[in-house]
Amino acid sequence: MVTRRPNIVIAISIMLASAILAIAVWVLAQMRDDALRRAQDSVFNVSLLVERDVSRNLEIYDLSLRAVLDGLKQPGVLELQPAIRQMVLFDGAASAKDMGSLVVVDEAGNVKFDSQAFPPRQSNVADRDYFKVQRASPNVGLYVSRPFIPKVSSKEVSIALSRRISKPDGSFGGVVVGTLRLTYFRRLFAGMNLGAGGSMALMLSDGTMLMRRPYDPKIIGINLTGTSNYSRFVQQPSGDFFGTAAIDNVERWYAFRHIDMYPLILDVALSTRDIYMEWRRRAWIIGSLIAALDLSIIALAVSASHQLRHRRAAEEELRSLARTDGLTGLNNRRTFDEHAEEEWRRQRRNGWPLSALLIDVDTFKGFNDLYGHSAGDDALIAVARCIAQSVRRPGDTAARYGGEEFAVLLPNTDEAGAAVIAEKIRAAIHSLQLRHVASSHHVLTVSIGAATMRDDSFATVRALINAADGALYEAKDAGRNRVQRHGGVMRTSAENGSSAARDNAAQATEARNAT
Ligand code: GH3
Ligand code: MG
Ligand code: MG
Repeated sequence: MVTRRPNIVIAISIMLASAILAIAVWVLAQMRDDALRRAQDSVFNVSLLVERDVSRNLEIYDLSLRAVLDGLKQPGVLELQPAIRQMVLFDGAASAKDMGSLVVVDEAGNVKFDSQAFPPRQSNVADRDYFKVQRASPNVGLYVSRPFIPKVSSKEVSIALSRRISKPDGSFGGVVVGTLRLTYFRRLFAGMNLGAGGSMALMLSDGTMLMRRPYDPKIIGINLTGTSNYSRFVQQPSGDFFGTAAIDNVERWYAFRHIDMYPLILDVALSTRDIYMEWRRRAWIIGSLIAALDLSIIALAVSASHQLRHRRAAEEELRSLARTDGLTGLNNRRTFDEHAEEEWRRQRRNGWPLSALLIDVDTFKGFNDLYGHSAGDDALIAVARCIAQSVRRPGDTAARYGGEEFAVLLPNTDEAGAAVIAEKIRAAIHSLQLRHVASSHHVLTVSIGAATMRDDSFATVRALINAADGALYEAKDAGRNRVQRHGGVMRTSAENGSSAARDNAAQATEARNAT
């Protein structure tokens, strides 16, 4: 099957190459999904870690504020000696690297007590947002301020955590406030592994930026309200998504979470480029290898198919050489015998007549002797052409049967039809007018014996051929250059002086009368 249809080799190779390609695409898609999943896990874990750290520190700081509030409520605290009062109020206050001083501010905004200085450093905070917010409402609880630069102490950008002091009658009595330098967040962010394009940000719930990595002092304090990422942050307590930062226009995978109990939102993001960088490198390698493999498979198949085609053509030529006669191009005897057996069976089955002609060149030995073997060959070629041109019905078989003998098989042809064809052949060769001075006819002629099988008149195809052979010898005996039908009356042609056409008609009439 493959040798008969070389294109199948190419088709199979294309299918194979496509299958390999499909598998590669599937594997690469899986690898890409894995890369994203790893990134998702990673940003989730980092965001969780940072949230825990921030909320724990804020909680500790808040506890310090509450401790001061509790201290202020103790009876007689305000009357204590300043040094002891300082101890009572601020002893429980947490102090860590980025925490500024804890101060108590009165209802006018003046600093009354300061954890880091006694007497307190003089300043007024009435203009700060936390002071105004706490004064405006008794129910704010812990308030995280917008970033500012403290008037005393560090002068570094900080936020303030504050709680309201309410007088016994519920009216505003000032605030307890502690500052936290934003460098705390900056250091915290810097410790996380986020890749070159990663980002982290901590913002107030109202969209005010507190800290971002990569760090840029200009964006501290800006408001993100209205940006697409911020709009998504406020929709849910936590989540993740692909988004593009308004600040640097980089596409990233974001995980965000609202920090438990505090008005803060944290986001952690890995850039899409970083997420897929390793995958892209591998995809290039795998993709090129697969492409090379596929191309090689198809190239091999194309070359194999070429070779098959060549081989098939060579086989075809050999087969045809084995079936034909080298000199005349007619079928050879073996092919004739095969056809004869086949046609014999078919004609018997259908009850149709089958005719055979045996044709022998007259006194050909003499022709060879006179004109040479090569001229003899040329004469045989001319004779063969005459026979082939006279036998043109599909199913008819003309063959070179032996040296200067030819045979013709005429399926579904009765005596009359066979006689017509035989005469046509004889006349055609006669009219070649090939000089043959040793012949009594002066030109090259043939004698033809014809036999027809009908209604089981012959037991085998061999018997039919033998009958035609017998008729041929009768024709030779009768003077050559004539057609002789097996069991029929002798008909000559040239010697009777009649034209070939008349001859044919006469013979056909005779054939019809005989049946
Ligand atoms: P007849 O009329 O009785 O058939 O006489 P003939 O000479 O044809 O009879 P014969 O069978 O004795 O001679 C046949 C000759 O055909 C013998 C041989 O030299 C010649 N012959 C057979 N095959 C070839 C061939 O392929 N080429 C040539 N040039 N001659 C051939
Ligand atoms: Mg002969
Ligand atoms: Mg002969």
